[in-house]
Amino acid sequence: MRTADVVVVGGGIAGKACALGLAQLGLQTIEIAPDLGQSIASPQGTQWGQRIYAFSPSTQKLLAHLQIWDAIDHSRLQPVRDMRIYGDRGEKNDQLHLSAFEAGTPQLAWIGESNLIEHTLDQASRFQNKLERISDVVEKIHVDADGSTLHLKNGGSIRAQLVIAADGANSPIRNELGISASEESYSQSAVVANWLCTYPHLETAFQWFLPGGDIVAMLPLPGKQVSMVWSTSPERAADLLKLDQAQWLDQFASIANGVILKQLGELTLNSIPAAYPLRKIRAKRFIGPEASPKVVLIGDAAHVMHPLAGQGLNLGLRDVAVLLNILGKRESFRSPSDIVLLRRYERQRQGDTSALLWVTDKLKKLFSASSNTERQLRNWGLGLVNKSHFIKQRLIERALGEIDFE
Ligand SMILES: Cc1cc2nc3c(=O)[nH]c(=O)nc-3n(C[C@H](O)[C@H](O)[C@H](O)COP(=O)(O)OP(=O)(O)OC[C@H]3O[C@@H](n4cnc5c(N)ncnc54)[C@H](O)[C@@H]3O)c2cc1C
Repeated sequence: MRTADVVVVGGGIAGKACALGLAQLGLQTIEIAPDLGQSIASPQGTQWGQRIYAFSPSTQKLLAHLQIWDAIDHSRLQPVRDMRIYGDRGEKNDQLHLSAFEAGTPQLAWIGESNLIEHTLDQASRFQNKLERISDVVEKIHVDADGSTLHLKNGGSIRAQLVIAADGANSPIRNELGISASEESYSQSAVVANWLCTYPHLETAFQWFLPGGDIVAMLPLPGKQVSMVWSTSPERAADLLKLDQAQWLDQFASIANGVILKQLGELTLNSIPAAYPLRKIRAKRFIGPEASPKVVLIGDAAHVMHPLAGQGLNLGLRDVAVLLNILGKRESFRSPSDIVLLRRYERQRQGDTSALLWVTDKLKKLFSASSNTERQLRNWGLGLVNKSHFIKQRLIERALGEIDFE
């Protein structure tokens, strides 16, 4: 049977970043996911990838720590200097404006393609001799007092002291270990698409809350391009996917008093739109069962949130940063799966996760409520928050995220 110090299950950005970081700490690491055999090409040209993310400064800090940030093609990353969030009454004062300048930071976030980060992580992993990648699926996990045994679909088995479950929102490992998770569907899907625009986006991320609960975000990309995330009912999402260019423009003209087109000019579709169902998930525990918790949950395996704040992956990468910090600074007599370290990880991740899940959930629900009083209250609230430098500063701190590497 093959052995390793740590096995990371999952080949999303959280799994890839975690496996690389653990190997850089000198731990013999194996990463397993079905898609690790295909190398992800570096995105190029004027067609932009379908999966676009807002990366927070905490993500930038982790990627810099992993020696990835400087290797990324920065011409494909758009810094965000301003965020403008509008209420659903269409009135000028129902607006929250967050500015990097006012917050004393160079940028609030960066917008870029998932493939861009994955490609660079793949390149770095290839040169990391403590990291082995296996293209396979974990079918079974058995945890005992000394570690875990993973049984793979292709027949092999691997033994490790510690297993990191980075296996996504439906986490088979979380389920198999019987770690319960609270799950709630938002009865919404997010339609994503990239658009060319005729007016400059001014390095600004726009978000409009619409009557009825729809949310439209337009995130700036390099040049005159934006990436749309339109959260709506699954039925409307299915209809949006069928629209042609002219019908899309009619849709934009008919919502938010046409301000999207007034802000960005004429929009030309520059990708094939796709839809993703939206839900909230929180695992009850972020480490394995009480008796021998030799497993750590990170990323969507531990928590999933509404994309309105663009924070799901950033939160997952903060899991990675905290885990690397704890394992990197562990006392020499502790093994990577020492219960004290795992409990330290769980404690440190609870506050950040609960706060972000709570805020995004409450914002989503507040803006879905349709009574007149609630509408007036929330729009008035946006304007009020906008006048408070103190609250805005706290909001920005939360959006930037904090991590430390010592
Ligand atoms: C519309 C939308 C927009 C979003 N925008 C943002 C944003 O702007 N910013 C942000 O921070 N977040 C955003 N998010 C959230 C983000 O997409 C997720 O949080 C992130 O992709 C989760 O990454 P992950 O690595 O944890 O999981 P995943 O990317 O889901 O990876 C899971 C991996 O596990 C593997 N796997 C599963 N089962 C097994 C098994 N049995 N054996 C081996 N491997 C297995 C899978 O093959 C996969 O490789 C958005 C989400 C949506 C839906």
